[in-house]
Amino acid sequence: MASNSIHVAVLPGDGIGVEVTEATLAVLEPLAKRHGLGISTESLPAGAFHYQATGDAFPEASFKAAEKADAILLGAMGWPGIRLADGTEIAPQLDLRFRLGLYAGVRPVKAIPGVPVALADPRARDMDLVILRESTEGLFFSRGTGVVTPDYAEETLRITRPITEKLSHFAFRLAQRRGERKQRRGKVTLVDKANVFRAFAFMRGVFDGVAAGYPDVDSAHHYVDAMALDLVRRPWAFDVLPTENMFGDILSDLGAGLVGGMGFSPSADIGDNHAVFQPAHGTAPDIAGQGIANPTAMLLSAAMMLDWLASRGAGQGHADAAVELEAAVDKAFAGGLRTADIGGKDGTAAVVKAVKEALA
Ligand code: ATP
Repeated sequence: MASNSIHVAVLPGDGIGVEVTEATLAVLEPLAKRHGLGISTESLPAGAFHYQATGDAFPEASFKAAEKADAILLGAMGWPGIRLADGTEIAPQLDLRFRLGLYAGVRPVKAIPGVPVALADPRARDMDLVILRESTEGLFFSRGTGVVTPDYAEETLRITRPITEKLSHFAFRLAQRRGERKQRRGKVTLVDKANVFRAFAFMRGVFDGVAAGYPDVDSAHHYVDAMALDLVRRPWAFDVLPTENMFGDILSDLGAGLVGGMGFSPSADIGDNHAVFQPAHGTAPDIAGQGIANPTAMLLSAAMMLDWLASRGAGQGHADAAVELEAAVDKAFAGGLRTADIGGKDGTAAVVKAVKEALA
């Protein structure tokens, strides 16, 4: 990867996806300039409204262009009432995960200064954990192929050794990096249901095998029901939480609720050679077109993209820009920025303005 010619495929999608993408690019541009980063972007059509207009939710040309890019930045896709022939939602973001093998769904849950957290305990302000949602198998393995008969319906959960190994290595390496940054030992806690299902006992066995190779990181297991409880009771006690696809889907929304809601929850879907960065929220039809969408989740996703590009050899400038963007978001909210989703009056444009000022 040549450090000064990064190409980013941008898929704005539908609803507030388009609005938060525009806001993110408006911040990314001056940030890249300040750090001398040669980032070019290309906006690609896909999503529910594209489906409505053309009958194709994700044109192959868009997929190919995204596949060729150094990174993919995605807004959000889908719209109520616009469905595929089988009644399911339009979800090119899921196609990307499966077609590009993006097994590691990185969902940070971190309190932002000034943004109200859901818990009254003062330790909740120190919350800083990562839910690592496996994103290509688990219960989503049978997406689109579940069996439905007049008498029963059935979906199949699959856990494989290669993907569990990859996810576990990813978790331990992430815990090592976070440990270095925070100057403490990292800890990885596998979230499963090994007390009931053989597939999860298998997953635990594979995870333990990988854990043995990381003596510098603590490792543990937690049943998913107990984790739901502990994410509310003592979320500050956790670091990196790898888990099955469906469990991760649910727990990461719970995590978002702890730190101010979907507008504050970034995510990355990372594979061996590709990665998609997108806010964890959807297209929010109830507030689309009003200029009040909170772009913070996508701004933080863009910071994750810069950090990932740096880890892939794009250069220190990208890592510095990532740190600066995250700090600017913190500074803007610490300085009184309050978006509508947390009861404030600041719209999308006000967030862009405040974050740009904090960068300067
Ligand atoms: P999906 O099923 O595609 O994940 P959804 O439509 O069920 O999405 P979201 O769009 O994620 O749900 O959001 C649920 C609600 O949260 C929205 O209707 C909106 O009110 C609010 N919300 C989500 N994201 C944001 C945001 N960035 N800024 C402000 N409010 C948001």
